[in-house]
Amino acid sequence: MRKISIFGATGSIGQNTIDLIRRDPEAYDIVALSGGHNIAQLARDAIELRAEVAITAHDHRLPELRAALAGSDVEAAAGADALVEAASRPADWIMSAIVGAAGLAPGLRALEQGSTLALANKESLVCAGRLLMKTAEAHGARILPVDSEHSAVFQALVGERIDEVERIIITASGGAFRDWPLADLRTATLAQASSHPNWDMGQRITVDSASMFNKALEVIETREFFGVAPEQIEVLVHPQSLVHALVGFRDGALMSHLGAPDMRHAIGYALHWPERRALPVARLDLASIGQLEFRAPDLARYPALRLAQEVMRRGGLCGAAFNGAKERALDHFIAGHIGFLDMADITEQVLASLEAEPGLIDASMTLENVTRVDGLSRDAVDQVVTQRTG
Ligand code: NDP
Ligand code: MG
Repeated sequence: MRKISIFGATGSIGQNTIDLIRRDPEAYDIVALSGGHNIAQLARDAIELRAEVAITAHDHRLPELRAALAGSDVEAAAGADALVEAASRPADWIMSAIVGAAGLAPGLRALEQGSTLALANKESLVCAGRLLMKTAEAHGARILPVDSEHSAVFQALVGERIDEVERIIITASGGAFRDWPLADLRTATLAQASSHPNWDMGQRITVDSASMFNKALEVIETREFFGVAPEQIEVLVHPQSLVHALVGFRDGALMSHLGAPDMRHAIGYALHWPERRALPVARLDLASIGQLEFRAPDLARYPALRLAQEVMRRGGLCGAAFNGAKERALDHFIAGHIGFLDMADITEQVLASLEAEPGLIDASMTLENVTRVDGLSRDAVDQVVTQRTG
């Protein structure tokens, strides 16, 4: 039996992972399941899958989790330290599907014990890509991509050499506002930004898809994961979300990966790698689809894509500043404090102010320094929002 832990088990990726595991329960021994506020789901799944421990990220929810697990053998734990402790419990395969920078510390700990880390939590690569990759290497651990575009690139690269790659093209649906007039974006609401044309995902990544902050993170994720130069990475708008990525080689050949927009494709590939097993996903009928559509992204509409290029050019801890600012700006948009376009505007302003702090962005990439920059960027966003709204 393979020992498995799932961090972010109550979320969209976590639930899709559990869906696959539930189909073959005899094959897996569940070590840890983590969640946040959704205590009922966490307890239900932990009891059903006979997890060793269930952890909520929030300390004050521990009594509730204990009560929900009463009468079972599942241990209850809470808080950021408990997440890291759970990640150090021996497991063969660990799903990193917490949303946001909070996924970094447990992900690092999972790598330190030499586990295979199935990485959905792109924020940790954006904040600390080099640290994650170095940690994996030092401990003989493997990181498998779960983001659909990166899984697609990974699959297109099987049997290929990275030094023969000329470019990597990741596709973007264009999100909820793809066809909106630019002028209307200023007044776009949370409800409007929270519906995705093709993918069913958590709310934060759905809003990030509308603003293309998600694609900006994915461009940086591509650089960190595959080690290619920023100018080798392209974004292509593809409204149908059937082609997930393309890899272009120096002879001009393009290898692409197509599949239904269902995250169980990428999760299943990471779960069964290096094998391919049957998955409960729809098969594409290309004859009835008829046409695939592609176009270049409009950078005026998506300033986040331009910011991603600047972050990669700057390097150092700029990714942590970018991600922290973007996450906090999203918090303020969700809370109704700022408008949709303010998110990119404020992120850019905060990035510039942190870059101007002597030595901050160029400090060495340790978990401590990444966490510090992450915190400073969030504080800086709060200040800007207070100035603007106060
Ligand atoms: P969800 O919002 O659906 O789920 C997030 C999970 O993280 C939940 O289990 C949530 O708990 C938990 N969580 C939230 N905040 C914290 C915190 N501060 N500390 C610890 N745990 C926390 O997100 P998704 O499943 O959509 O996304 C998860 C990750 O995967 C993200 O990094 C996203 O970018 C990435 N991803 C997602 C895709 C998708 O299709 N959904 C596609 C590609 C990548 P609770 O809900 O109980 O509060
Ligand atoms: Mg993606």
